[in-house]
Amino acid sequence: MPLMKTGGIVIKTVNTGESDKIITILSGEHGKLQASARASRRPKSRLFAGTQFLCYSDFVLYKGRSLATINSCEPTETFYEIRNDIVRLTYASYMVDLILDSIQEEQPSEKILKLFLNTLHILAKTDKTPELVCRIFELRFLAELGFAPAADFCGVCGRDLEGEYSFSFKNECVLCSECTSCENGDSRILPGTLKALRHILYSKPDNLFRFELDPKVLNELGKVCDRFLREKLEKDYKKLQFLKTLE
Ligand SMILES: [Zn+2]
Repeated sequence: MPLMKTGGIVIKTVNTGESDKIITILSGEHGKLQASARASRRPKSRLFAGTQFLCYSDFVLYKGRSLATINSCEPTETFYEIRNDIVRLTYASYMVDLILDSIQEEQPSEKILKLFLNTLHILAKTDKTPELVCRIFELRFLAELGFAPAADFCGVCGRDLEGEYSFSFKNECVLCSECTSCENGDSRILPGTLKALRHILYSKPDNLFRFELDPKVLNELGKVCDRFLREKLEKDYKKLQFLKTLE
């Protein structure tokens, strides 16, 4: 019997038929997985809870010749706090878009699954500023995909970063004042932003979310992350713009 067990987060649901849906799961071993969840929209279905958007569940799938089918699922974490909060939900949906675009089927994604799971925990269970949580995810996610900017020394000459420095989108690194060039559009960054970049890129997973930023630094970090991500993934993501309409 081609049965497969996997833990994963539901990152997309599409309703089909009267009470079915097709869900996309981010799993560690198999990357992005699609499966049909029959009758799962019926409240009494044993698949109802575990196939909700953002739910982390243990799945047993039956892999036939075409689309896989969910045999059973046991929700470990439902993250209902996120689904019930429009701001948190918008940030989570944006992160999901990044994952849907960047992770393929059968692409081992253990680190990204862990990162997203940790991110959802912080977003759901703590009062940490959702924007900071999102920036941490964005940059660490890009690093996991192989797009980490160099932030330990000047990326051009290798000098220690002291005094003034800038972020270079062209060179994908932080630069010392001597290597900074206005013509290349390098952006001067605050010491707090460099510290945050280093923390996000180099800290151990357990410590990743253990810092706070004042609003000015968070704003600057946001601009750097946003542009860097757009250039690396070559796409404009618009979901977060919705949050401005709530302010
Ligand atoms: Zn330099």
